[in-house]
Amino acid sequence: MKNKMILGKSIEKWKEEYPLLNKLTSTEEVFWTNPKYTKFEEAIRKITLTEKDIIDAEERLERFASYIKKIFPETKENNGIIESPIVEIPTMKKHIEKSFNQNIFGDLLLKCDSHLPISGSIKARGGIYEVLKHAEDLAIQHGMLTKEDDYSILDSDEFRKFFSNYSIAVGSTGNLGLSIGIMSAKLGFKVTVHMSSDAKKWKKDLLRSKGVIVVEYESDYSKAVEEGRKQSDADPNSYFVDDENSKNLFLGYAVAASRLKKQLESLNIVVDQDHPLFVYLPCGVGGGPGGVAFGLKLAYKDNVHCFFAEPTHSPCMLIGSMTGTHDKVCVQDFGIDNITAADGLAVGRASGFVGRTLENLLSGVYTVNDDQLYVLLSALADTENFYLEPSALAGIPGVVDLFKTEAGEKYLEYNNLKDKMKHFTHIVWATGGSMVPKVEMNQYYQYGITLSSLK
Ligand SMILES: *Cc1c(COP(=O)(O)O)cnc(C)c1O
Repeated sequence: MKNKMILGKSIEKWKEEYPLLNKLTSTEEVFWTNPKYTKFEEAIRKITLTEKDIIDAEERLERFASYIKKIFPETKENNGIIESPIVEIPTMKKHIEKSFNQNIFGDLLLKCDSHLPISGSIKARGGIYEVLKHAEDLAIQHGMLTKEDDYSILDSDEFRKFFSNYSIAVGSTGNLGLSIGIMSAKLGFKVTVHMSSDAKKWKKDLLRSKGVIVVEYESDYSKAVEEGRKQSDADPNSYFVDDENSKNLFLGYAVAASRLKKQLESLNIVVDQDHPLFVYLPCGVGGGPGGVAFGLKLAYKDNVHCFFAEPTHSPCMLIGSMTGTHDKVCVQDFGIDNITAADGLAVGRASGFVGRTLENLLSGVYTVNDDQLYVLLSALADTENFYLEPSALAGIPGVVDLFKTEAGEKYLEYNNLKDKMKHFTHIVWATGGSMVPKVEMNQYYQYGITLSSLK
């Protein structure tokens, strides 16, 4: 349809207003900085969520630690707190500087949510948190639990029987389903995961092996969510985890910030006005990166700069934020197909809740093409021996773009950052990968090697 209208305007008109749409619709890589980015103290006034909400989430996770430790032995070392390491990646930094022909000023670190216990992705933060919160709400409502109890009592037939009267449902491209499914099944809930067509077979198999009901859809993530919600809403004892609007998910992710702060302190990495922090977060619907970014802004205010990364074929947060239309549009409206190998990021419509919450706090969004993800995947494996899933590599090009693009240059100038470049710390958020089966991972790696040799 040539004259298709999007919110009452033709594509040509949108492109006239936002020229970057020309590149976006031809799936070229772009780096966009947010003209609405504002000083923290001013931006936070418009947001209803507060530090108190994050502390509440943090305390809830602490209450559950004795239970988590008991049922997931891999969390024993960290006393039942689900957290990931952060590491410097100096060899990868040199490799990037060489292959992109661009100096990277400051230190480069990798936040390894790829290696979070239980489900091996950033979803082990928000997803697991939301299930635990729901379980706690139910048990307290029914007089079975108080906040003062030792929550390891949840690991009992009595509680499993109680939770089996309730259902949990979620729509997912894969990793959220893994987190929600594994955690819910362990507690005893009946759990259904509605999976989009791009979800990997091994994720479905793994979930089924844990007693999770997996429903598959031919279409993309939005459809899986829609159907999941419909079926769940029909059952009063069913709870639907709403990836697009859930404040609980968001707060579960946000807890990452205070943990990261402690990790940086123990590495003697200073973050202050003269030592700014840059964080690069792969973005799907927005909850994960949004929650983490929100927590980081509360922790570091104007001294942290958060950028989101999206596949060139799924730039939903970029288009929603740039045009201010958020969830009123999807990438398909603009003729972009939402087909990408970055399965956690294959989302055509961003969360309106996240987009609006971060309207003035997000520094920018950039896009990365799929081939680049594979090339970086094998480079990171060769240089640092870290094996991530393709989506999780999307953070890396942002570090290059910040220095190499005109928009990045302007951002540094406008925010008076140019004389501080030597003291920058960059954190690339590695959002998933440790649960990918070896055979699959080896295919990713080989594909990356093949692409690199063609360059
Ligand atoms: C889900 C996911 C993301 C992004 O999180 P959203 O909440 O969907 O924005 C990034 N990377 C991986 C590997 C994911 O699974």
